[in-house]
Amino acid sequence: MSPEEFRRHAHSFVDWMADYMESVEQYPVRAQTAPGEVAATLPDAPPEDGEAMERIFEDFKADVVPGITHWQHPRFFAYFPANSSPPSVLAEMLTATLGAQCMLWQTSPAATEMETRVLDWLRQMTGLPGGLTGVIQDSASGAILCALLTARERATDWQANEKGLATQPLLTVYTSNQTHSATEKNVKIIGLGRENLRSIDVDENFSLRPDLLEAQIEADIAAGCVPICVVASIGATGVGAIDPLRAIGEICERHGIFLHVDAAWAGTAWILPEQRWMLDGIEYADSLVFNPHKWMLTNFDCSAHFVKDPDALVRTLSILPEFLKSREQGQVIDYRDWSVPLGRRFRALKLWMVIRSYGASGLREIVRRHIELAAELEGWISTEPDFEIVAPRSLALINFRYRPDRMAEGEELDRLNATLLQRINDDGRIYLTQNRVRGRAAIRFSIGQTNTERRHVAEGWDVVKEIARNLRC
Ligand code: PLP
Repeated sequence: MSPEEFRRHAHSFVDWMADYMESVEQYPVRAQTAPGEVAATLPDAPPEDGEAMERIFEDFKADVVPGITHWQHPRFFAYFPANSSPPSVLAEMLTATLGAQCMLWQTSPAATEMETRVLDWLRQMTGLPGGLTGVIQDSASGAILCALLTARERATDWQANEKGLATQPLLTVYTSNQTHSATEKNVKIIGLGRENLRSIDVDENFSLRPDLLEAQIEADIAAGCVPICVVASIGATGVGAIDPLRAIGEICERHGIFLHVDAAWAGTAWILPEQRWMLDGIEYADSLVFNPHKWMLTNFDCSAHFVKDPDALVRTLSILPEFLKSREQGQVIDYRDWSVPLGRRFRALKLWMVIRSYGASGLREIVRRHIELAAELEGWISTEPDFEIVAPRSLALINFRYRPDRMAEGEELDRLNATLLQRINDDGRIYLTQNRVRGRAAIRFSIGQTNTERRHVAEGWDVVKEIARNLRC
């Protein structure tokens, strides 16, 4: 493809992109596609000869787009958001065009130096303490992996890396029963064994109970285990549970345990001064992560991972074959040793463009709007006699259920809510996610898509009520 042809195609792509952004509301939010439907449009074998881009683009529109779930739809209320925004998309175009692999300072000095700077901007914007140093990871899961590995190595004086786990006592990790499954997955990945992840019970607000945490740690120490890490949640996935950082941090300090804070979704809310109460005790954290690729208008993937002791992280992951040595080593940051993959995309560019384009105040306005909309929705739900809120609203996340005529708790009510959710998502006007709260079926309504306004939430709530009504007819 010549540069001239590229220019022509790129212009038509950009036209499509702008039209998509403008008209995304016309699509069903969740793909209304049956399993295998998209695969059936794709030839079994690759083409031997190159095809015209016009034709490929037509197939994209005809076969691919109908199989897409529209995360950028303003009535997307499922999971947590995975936002994009026009400045972020523009940055991604430049990143793709540069195609730089930014593993060393030398392999793209601008990428490294911008990453350091925008992560410090984020630290300032969110009110995090000055002693934290940031790095962009591919995911919160990746950051938890790095944190657990650092905790493991710190606790074993870097001997697990050298000799393996067979020479070590049982190493244990602690987290609440609300924590995202990424912690359990990573405990398996780093070879500790799922049984050595201790699931700590929560209080009536779904926050980890520090008294139970400490009792479990002491019991484990008495049994000869070595507690290495507590993973605290700020905004856990189910009901958005927020753990008490100060109490947990004090326990970690008493027992010399590494503290990682998983704030994948909720961390963005710290740009609002009124939401920083949940940071009380953050000075105890050795590591924390939040995802601008969730709520901060920045395309996936972009996880902001902050660490207190970058040397410990680098010492844990460092490996230096001949081909990765560089003249500047020691004078600059080489991010290759800050994450598991060696290769790195230029991810800082989109964050730089988003922050510059919206400004901190523009981002605050959007996140604050989402939280206010959720508070309004909470009011609407609680005044409907056939619905009930089943967990305290956390920021912009609400868990509710349909309970007509105060039906008794139990399997039948669970099934009714499961059917309601299925009908809602099959309808396509909105998209929600199922949950279990204290063992009973619930429906999550998560607000946070970049363009979600009051009318989208109001329409969404009307859809829920309408489909619930029809369910009973
Ligand atoms: N932690 C929490 C609280 C989450 O909600 C999620 C995903 O939704 C994750 C971790 C995992 O995030 P990622 O997809 O970036 O690994």
